[in-house]
Amino acid sequence: MAVERTPVVEVRRSERRRRTVAAYREGERVVILIPSQFSRAEETAWVDKMLARLEAKDKRGVRSDSALMARAHQLATRYLGDYDDAAIPAGVRWVTNQRGRWGSCSPDDRTIRLSERLRDMPIWVSDYVLVHELAHLIEPNHSAAFWRLVARYPKTERARGFLEGVAAVAGTPYAED
Ligand SMILES: [Zn+2]
Repeated sequence: MAVERTPVVEVRRSERRRRTVAAYREGERVVILIPSQFSRAEETAWVDKMLARLEAKDKRGVRSDSALMARAHQLATRYLGDYDDAAIPAGVRWVTNQRGRWGSCSPDDRTIRLSERLRDMPIWVSDYVLVHELAHLIEPNHSAAFWRLVARYPKTERARGFLEGVAAVAGTPYAED
């Protein structure tokens, strides 16, 4: 069971600092540098803000391009392992310019792109999109054979429903590709 730990925060006031605030990790602690003239209220507000920023940064690291590539390898081995290297992409990355699509695959150069919007969704949803795109490396079209491959991922229907719901709420027709 994971225990949520709040980091030990050490606030250092600096005469040299004017308006800028900085934060970094030092072992188990988080050190936050603030200008010496900050009030207690400003200090509290900035500590919260900087902790949130550090946490967001950590989260991006966990779901980086290299982490995504590693995940694609895992999923390809687990669900499409009988195809050996045919299901292993040459590259996988997050993209922002993926309007109207959750993911895409170029079978020619064997690269996969996933919309950054999936980063904030549960891992089983982005896993589904990855499996979907990996299956395109084997079956380029949305054929019955393609869907049989995708169905090997047990949360396929749940994830498709989730994505449909997100698109409906956003009012944007997001399509699988
Ligand atoms: Zn597709």
